[in-house]
Amino acid sequence: MFDTLSDRLTSVLQNLRGKGRLSDADIDATAREIRIALLEADVALPVVRAFIAGVKDRAKGAEVSGALNPAQQVIKIVNEELVGILGGETRRLEHAKNPPTVILLAGLQGSGKTTLSGKLAKWLSGQGHTPMLVACDLQRPNAVTQLQVVGERAGVPVFAPEPGNGTGDPVDVARRSLDEAKRAQHDVVIVDTAGRLGVDEEMMRQAADIRDAVSPDEIMFVVDAMIGQDAVSTAEAFRDGVGFSGVVLTKLDGDARGGAALSVRHVTGQPIMFASNGEKLEDFDVFHPDRMASRILGMGDMLTLIEQAEQAFDADQAEQAAQKLGSGQLTLEDFLEQMQAVRRMGPLQNLLGMLPGANQMKDQLANFDEKHLDRLQAIIRGMTPAERDDPKIINGSRRQRIAKGSGVNVSDINDLVNRFFEARKMMQQMAGQFGGFGGGGGTK
Ligand code: GDP
Repeated sequence: MFDTLSDRLTSVLQNLRGKGRLSDADIDATAREIRIALLEADVALPVVRAFIAGVKDRAKGAEVSGALNPAQQVIKIVNEELVGILGGETRRLEHAKNPPTVILLAGLQGSGKTTLSGKLAKWLSGQGHTPMLVACDLQRPNAVTQLQVVGERAGVPVFAPEPGNGTGDPVDVARRSLDEAKRAQHDVVIVDTAGRLGVDEEMMRQAADIRDAVSPDEIMFVVDAMIGQDAVSTAEAFRDGVGFSGVVLTKLDGDARGGAALSVRHVTGQPIMFASNGEKLEDFDVFHPDRMASRILGMGDMLTLIEQAEQAFDADQAEQAAQKLGSGQLTLEDFLEQMQAVRRMGPLQNLLGMLPGANQMKDQLANFDEKHLDRLQAIIRGMTPAERDDPKIINGSRRQRIAKGSGVNVSDINDLVNRFFEARKMMQQMAGQFGGFGGGGGTK
């Protein structure tokens, strides 16, 4: 569903990689591109404005983390703002203290209410509940039969007006369904209401009458994510006409731009609770704002990596190391500390596997031997503090001593020391070019 948006955002954020510092102009340019991507995806203007303002403010602000480089910080901020727009915390279904819990479904015709009834019922049954469906769409021909088919597939009973009484009063059906639920001990009642192709007063009034008759614990506004910008105005009409406590997005498997769906939460103030992504009863899940955001950003694992880095690295230490790197004063002690911090994040193979593009490096990753790092650490630990501080003093006899102490050959020591000098020189040159390195580069 969000493929295009996802591609755009990923490429905007990828452009930031490798930048040592981000100027205000860099941040403005990035914000502009994100804005275009969101607008093209049909996200409503007020939502885009709020989002961009949040990202800019925070990216330019003092949120400097020693563990992350500027690009990673911006990715983190964009992700957090996106999670916020999508509602922050996952909103769980509220069950009534005195069963049955009554869930009323409202939405336009074709939005997926009937299908959703079955999905919800099956999902609830799986959790040990005993739901019952109620057919209150008595306008559309076949709506009752359709609900009965869905109920059968989900393995739950359907309460409907008696045959031959197909034009019955939906409010009366809804009211009677509660007695039936109590009698047959159903702890959840899911009421499917009639929808129209467009918002109309009579439909709203009927839904409101049903609402008043059954006092639902949850009213869910069901909205087809493919209807584009209309999603927002429809949501507003239902909010004012019936009111709702949660939103269900359907047809997220479609290939429309879907941004309007992202606007509903911000515009109506009500949380998205579930997402439907197919016609089968299983194609349904609780909506998790954080998971959706990282899916949209197309960098779920990258975000995990950022989180782990923040936890594993001491910010001050990383800052110091970055400064030393730039000035060519990095010591083997720093190197050891950094290596230990990285390894605290888990096996390096997993870590590298999380980086975008890691798929292409699969073979190399599979051959990577963690023991090599153990060996490096053992060698450095075998050195005296003075040697770690200034590896230049490590002469022939010292090399022999270290090799013996750490159980390796002298050539391994030579190798490590030579590579260290090379790496230090290279990093110093790069730091000179990019004006800063790793964490602590700041965003100004
Ligand atoms: P209602 O009029 O609101 O009750 O909508 P229905 O439940 O009858 O759904 C309308 C159409 O959308 C049906 O053909 C469903 O199979 C289809 N549908 C419902 N939910 C989804 C979904 O998540 N993905 C897709 N692709 N189709 C869906």
